[in-house]
Amino acid sequence: MAKTSKYVYFFGKGKADGRTGMKGLLGGKGANLAEMTNIGLPVPPGFTISTEVCTYFYKHGDTYPKTLRKDVETALAKVEKAMGAKFGDAVNPLLVSVRSGARASMPGMMDTVLNLGLNNVTLQGLVKKTNNERFVYDSYRRFVQMYGDVVLGLKPVHKDDIDPFEAIIEQKKREKGVHFDTELTAEDLKDLVARFKIAVKERTGCDFPEDPMDQLWGAIGAVFGSWMNDRAIAYRKLYDIPEWWGTAVSVQTMVFGNMGEDSGTGVGFTRDPATGENVFYGEYLMNAQGEDVVAGIRTPLPISRMAEQNPRIYAQLERFRQILEKHYREMMDIEFTIQQGVLYMLQCRVGKRTAFAEIRIAVDMVQQQLISDKEAISRVHPDQLNQLLRPIFDLKEREAAVKGGRLLTKGLNAGPGAATGRVVFNAHDAEEWAKRGEQVILTRIETSPEDIRGMSAAEGILTARGGMTSHAALVARQMGKVCVAGCSALEIDYNSHTMRVNGKEIKEGDWISIDGTTGQVISGKVNTRPSEVLQVLIDKTLDPKDAPVYQEFEKIMKWADKYRTLKIRTNADQPDQALNAVAFGAQGIGLCRTEHMFFGEGKIGPMREMILADTVAERKAALAKLLPLQRKDFEGILEAMNGRPVTIRTIDPPLHEFVPHEEGAQRELAQQMGISYEKVKQRVDSLHEFNPMLGFRGCRLGIIYPEITEMQSRAIFEAAAEVKKRGIPVEPEVMIPLVGDVKELQHQEQIVRGVADEVMKEQGVKFPYLVGTMIEIPRGAITADEIARVAEFFSFGTNDLTQTTLGVSRDDAGRFLLAYVEKDIYAKDPFEVIDRSGVGAVMKIAVEKGRGVRPNLKLGICGEHGGDPSSIEFCHMIGLNYVSCSPFRVPIARLAAARAALTNAGAGGTSKGTRRSKRTLKRKPARKR
Ligand code: PEP
Ligand code: MG
Repeated sequence: MAKTSKYVYFFGKGKADGRTGMKGLLGGKGANLAEMTNIGLPVPPGFTISTEVCTYFYKHGDTYPKTLRKDVETALAKVEKAMGAKFGDAVNPLLVSVRSGARASMPGMMDTVLNLGLNNVTLQGLVKKTNNERFVYDSYRRFVQMYGDVVLGLKPVHKDDIDPFEAIIEQKKREKGVHFDTELTAEDLKDLVARFKIAVKERTGCDFPEDPMDQLWGAIGAVFGSWMNDRAIAYRKLYDIPEWWGTAVSVQTMVFGNMGEDSGTGVGFTRDPATGENVFYGEYLMNAQGEDVVAGIRTPLPISRMAEQNPRIYAQLERFRQILEKHYREMMDIEFTIQQGVLYMLQCRVGKRTAFAEIRIAVDMVQQQLISDKEAISRVHPDQLNQLLRPIFDLKEREAAVKGGRLLTKGLNAGPGAATGRVVFNAHDAEEWAKRGEQVILTRIETSPEDIRGMSAAEGILTARGGMTSHAALVARQMGKVCVAGCSALEIDYNSHTMRVNGKEIKEGDWISIDGTTGQVISGKVNTRPSEVLQVLIDKTLDPKDAPVYQEFEKIMKWADKYRTLKIRTNADQPDQALNAVAFGAQGIGLCRTEHMFFGEGKIGPMREMILADTVAERKAALAKLLPLQRKDFEGILEAMNGRPVTIRTIDPPLHEFVPHEEGAQRELAQQMGISYEKVKQRVDSLHEFNPMLGFRGCRLGIIYPEITEMQSRAIFEAAAEVKKRGIPVEPEVMIPLVGDVKELQHQEQIVRGVADEVMKEQGVKFPYLVGTMIEIPRGAITADEIARVAEFFSFGTNDLTQTTLGVSRDDAGRFLLAYVEKDIYAKDPFEVIDRSGVGAVMKIAVEKGRGVRPNLKLGICGEHGGDPSSIEFCHMIGLNYVSCSPFRVPIARLAAARAALTNAGAGGTSKGTRRSKRTLKRKPARKR
């Protein structure tokens, strides 16, 4: 960010210093307040202190730039002028809110202070002005409480501890024999303020600040300070928000929603954030302040009710909704307040939404010509597609559970999807239980930002209070978690770790199931079923016509295919996997690991015989048994892929992985093979290696035992001939693993081509085939020019390439990898996201050298990175032809490839062809044998 000497940006009276493009400096909130002011919406005047001040604050021991005090005073004077009121004035006092606002929204993670400027003097002025003593003392009570919590540090550290102010309120209510805050009179509230101030003095040793300017600087400091609180730090880690961004602070004139029955406050979305439907979606409460809505203390009314209750305000809101959508061309999230019949807009930002809504909104907006199909693609994040592939309850089972009396209650369908798990009552337990491998449902009266880690660890979130815009609902949707909120029938007792619901008791650890699409809460476990998309594409149990979510998905996929230049293949070893991948749009197989096939029916025996053979003759005899079995596997795969290219890799892993290591199994094998147990044991022991991943594996196996490569090539080509004879086109590509020297490849290539010639002659059929290599050790990449004279294609094995380039074992990195990422030594797990400057640089060398000698060299990737969006972008940038990933990740890869093509127009993309790809669920990049 360029250094500027302007630290404070005013907005008000239809004109603002800032605008929406200045989020880096003003934070999302400040920038959008400026923008709304500029487009003529009624925004209470105020000013934003920039994020540069936050950076300065942390660099200079919690101090401010010298000019800041004066800049704030000048801006405050402008606000006073705009409002015709004065900060600290006894007659016509100006009150302000002080709020955080980072570049990216971090809902509830940082602090806010409302009603600032109230003291014993100004409150008298406000009483006269409003003629409403109760309202003024209620505002003062809220201010002292909030300021005490946020600025003076009285907020309890532990979640289950009681806020001292809340304890005082409860005590007062008991004394008065009332249930609700609203039943307290002005006198009661006056007394509460006095008791609050005593508590402040007792706990801090200081008086509650009276001077509004002191209050203001205290709040500004606390808000900047909240950038570094634990929950903000945890949230940033979770969402990759860099610390250096900092937060801005917006100081804004207070307007009150609690000034009587003609006042109110609400939040809304310009479309439904759960489904994406184009309807005004929101909630409001009359005679309330914003925190009442968001904290879920009172359950708000749906915005549609306002159309009846207050049609004038509703019509205005509806008009603002249209203006905002047209202006931002986005689904917006708004906050508004009605003060004595006048509507004010307090905030707008791009609305968080479910993946379902994201896709529906993008598709609808293209149809409304608000955005282009390219923009639609850039809006839908590939990982959001994951949510569309998530399970839903098995409908029959759910019905049976409901009929069987297991429906406990219904809440709000705040985060779609189905989740089943064991009940835990606090976030810490959720984290701990999840670490132990338990599925949990985090069940709270309401959630708060401190619960973020527990929410992330849980399968689903269930709350007793709060609406669709409560903290639980917002955060769950953003995380893609299943959430049922506002289940008022739940009586949760944190102390005994139990809850009662409609006469039934549920204890910690009991199973429950929640349906975030219908809001149902069911006792016990209910099994889940695949998503709509999977039902159409994979199970074929649903007609696309009856699957609206699938239809939206398909549109996005079509647009993605229009713009991507990378092809998408899949890593699959079985015909059913291949068919799934094709249904998801895969254009070929990028890696068929033949060793995976050896664990199938009837193959492991001959495989072990082959490994433990003493002589070439014995080995050949075992291989002869394997040949028809492998051939059948390849036929299945080639047939399923129906002419799409299929890359089949010759055997790769160290042989000891296939043989039994326990005595019992070794004795069994000895019997099968008709040799002594001692002999089996001795052969198995002799296979032991200190560092098997750098040992006798990859092409080394086929070089030392050429008969293995011969058998595998024969199985591949005989299968190809057979399938071709059945009238199905074939395109096998034989891939040699772990090549570091061209001579290794030459050795294997001769065998493969020799067998291909033989088979074609024997079978009397011709078919196209390629011979290529994996590039997965640095020497292979560095000598890619030599290797490319032999190889017709390269496929980057980035799992091994990462292991060998970083010198980090795929199998043993668990010990330190997480700590490395936490300490920012590695920005990301390098086995998940390509380390561009290390591994990526090695790949680039291979691309350039390889294409230098063979311009049409086919280039792909088949390491786990082939399904990671950031890595896919890198593959696009360096000009690969395809990425290959697991079947369920194929849709994600298709979209990621399109986004890469659109954001890197001109880079890479040497392949002109387009078309689909696939990929499967995220998996550890460790060895997958
Ligand atoms: C790789 O190393 O990236 C690769 C795909 O091969 P494997 O994971 O089977 O070693
Ligand atoms: Mg490998």
